[in-house]
Amino acid sequence: MRLTTIKLSGFKSFVDPTTLHLPTNMSAVVGPNGCGKSNIIDAIRWVMGESAASRLRGDSLTDVIFSGSSARKPVGQAVVELIFDNSDGTVTGEYAHYNEISVKRLVSRDGQSQYFLNGTRCRRRDITDLFLGTGLGPRSYSIIEQGMISQIIESDPEQLRVHLEEAAGISRYKERRKETESR
Ligand code: ATP
Ligand code: MG
Repeated sequence: MRLTTIKLSGFKSFVDPTTLHLPTNMSAVVGPNGCGKSNIIDAIRWVMGESAASRLRGDSLTDVIFSGSSARKPVGQAVVELIFDNSDGTVTGEYAHYNEISVKRLVSRDGQSQYFLNGTRCRRRDITDLFLGTGLGPRSYSIIEQGMISQIIESDPEQLRVHLEEAAGISRYKERRKETESR
């Protein structure tokens, strides 16, 4: 499974609709300080369901919406769409037969979040389910941020097991079991 396209609009500094293509297995984003490189990573984690504002470097969830600049007025909503190539069949279950999977999130100033899977409105839960066990996800190991390497190295055995279970693809089954047991 590979992230091929990121579309942003009204998200942080990306006020105008912007499409980023990631055509190969390796892409680099370069640019001066403050140009929006980290905002792209925030956008990816945000769509995958990150719900803690602090992890998106903000104080509240609506802080991801373009807040205006000297030249531009603030906008009313932020939308980000991620398009994944799933032709290797990483995603299992209901969406397994789609070669392309689109995941989209929208937030408006009133704080309402909406999620879409291949264009159809869905719950946040459907998005987290989709990525569970794939290594993707808002807090998964596919996004390695500053300080995370040492965090993994210094993990206690319990925390380390969570990473290993995700890598082995069994976290989704554990999650289902937990759910069944709590019913
Ligand atoms: P560095 O090289 O220093 O890490 P960077 O390229 O990673 O920089 P970012 O942190 O992605 O830069 O971008 C920061 C910029 O995004 C700042 O100019 C900030 O004002 C702008 N920004 C963040 N949130 C918003 C928002 N809600 N509305 C408008 N601009 C925003
Ligand atoms: Mg940065």
